[in-house]
Amino acid sequence: MIISKRASSISPSMTLAISAKEKQMKAAGIDVIGFGAGEPDFDTPQPIKEAGIAAINSGFTKYTASSGIPELKKAVSEKFKRDNKLDYAPSQILISCGAKHSLFNALFVLCDEGEEVIIPSPYWVSYEEQVKMAGAAPVIINETREENDFKLTGELFRQAITNKTKALLLNSPCNPTGSVYEREELEELAGIAVEKGIYIISDEVYEYIIYDGKRHLSLASLNPQIKDLTITINAVSKAYSMTGWRIGYAAGPKEIIDAMDNVQSHSTSNPASMAQKAALAALTGPQECIGFMVAAFDKRRRYIVERLNKIKGFSCRTPAGAFYAFPNVSGAFGLRFNGKTIEDSFSLTEFLLDQARVAVVPGDAFGAPGYLRLSYATSDENIEKGLDRIEEAVAGLE
Ligand code: PMP
Ligand code: GLU
Repeated sequence: MIISKRASSISPSMTLAISAKEKQMKAAGIDVIGFGAGEPDFDTPQPIKEAGIAAINSGFTKYTASSGIPELKKAVSEKFKRDNKLDYAPSQILISCGAKHSLFNALFVLCDEGEEVIIPSPYWVSYEEQVKMAGAAPVIINETREENDFKLTGELFRQAITNKTKALLLNSPCNPTGSVYEREELEELAGIAVEKGIYIISDEVYEYIIYDGKRHLSLASLNPQIKDLTITINAVSKAYSMTGWRIGYAAGPKEIIDAMDNVQSHSTSNPASMAQKAALAALTGPQECIGFMVAAFDKRRRYIVERLNKIKGFSCRTPAGAFYAFPNVSGAFGLRFNGKTIEDSFSLTEFLLDQARVAVVPGDAFGAPGYLRLSYATSDENIEKGLDRIEEAVAGLE
């Protein structure tokens, strides 16, 4: 066997695979409409780009401290105070290559072989695989309910805890469901974590992408006891439309952050120096770009949900945050096209790509087989055209 058991057990990222397929089809001249990629369609704001260019031109192109430049850690520390009522010293902050890397570092330092990490389903595609890469066992909670916005309840959390449980992965606002946890819900989960001594990795990358006047609440800000057990993960990727710059960060107890830096110093070293300068400009510069983007997402959210609910066999909740619609499409299963039955969300995804030239992600990628995920971080025109195509193709099913 050439490939290790550990690597062989890891599946490719379906979100990235679908984005790649979409790009490949476009390059081949096929008119495909993509709802796959979970990244803002807006350009990185000009002042942020200029900070990156200025860094290159001034020769800021060498290694930095593995954990990130001090001024960026200070800016992140101030951002936590400003936006999240959280007091993290710069020494409790690690800058990494995107939130994905921060999550990986956190799991890698927390988990020993055989320990368990609880993941409520539906969950972001990389959680399960990262837990496995860290040598731990993912424990998926499949019993969340659509009627309850797929949220993890205290009861379900308690039921999943064993003497091997090390951590819980929590994501609010959530990719793919858009669910946003309320204060009381977080308090209940935090109380259980403190009682049982379980760490919570709180992925807050969509913190600003939230609608209807709701406000994001950072788990670690609830009380000092839960703060000691929380690793807060965030990034500039979504908030400032900087997905390609690859800057994320983690904050938590110093002992854990130091261990994460240790691992990072032997794997990637520092995130790109010029990208760190761009992230610094993003965090310390004008913040209006966020509101502008969120207003555009909000308008698209209302439109896409309304349209999806009119499609045969589809029903779609209105997401409270992030930029994904997550329709229940199980009502379309069993319908037929050219003698072939749509059996599951994979075959529906394939049908939509072939017949409607629309790329979506099957819910299975997120542990939710009866659903599809459509990212509405794409232009109004694409959304309208894509929905027309889906509606027409599904109407043709018998
Ligand atoms: N967490 C969630 C929930 C995400 O949706 C994403 C985006 N794919 C990430 C983490 C990773 O973000 P980044 O691009 O900063 O690595
Ligand atoms: N957040 C995105 C998504 O879920 C980016 C792709 C990825 O990194 O998985 O589609």
